[in-house]
Amino acid sequence: MDSSIISKIEKARQYAEEKDRVNITSFAATFKGNHDQYDVRFEDGAWRCDCHFFATREVCSHTMALQRILDEMLTKQPEPV
Ligand SMILES: [Zn+2]
Repeated sequence: MDSSIISKIEKARQYAEEKDRVNITSFAATFKGNHDQYDVRFEDGAWRCDCHFFATREVCSHTMALQRILDEMLTKQPEPV
C-alpha cells in the first residue's frame, strides 16, 4: 500500500469520529420491521416511509429509529412528543 493511501485511511478514521462534518441531504433505506420490510427515504429534509402508520401520521417507528441512528448527521427535525 502506498503512503498516500495510508494517510487517507488515517484521515478517514479521524473524520469518522467527527460526525458533525457530515450533513445527509437524502438517502434511501430498506427497514426490516417486525412484520414486513419497508422503504424509508429522507429527501429535502422530509421523511417518507411506505408503512401503514406513516401514511396517516407522517411519522413512524422506522423514521424515528433512523433519526436516532443518524442523529447529528441529519438536518434537524424535532421528534413528535
Ligand atoms: Zn414506517
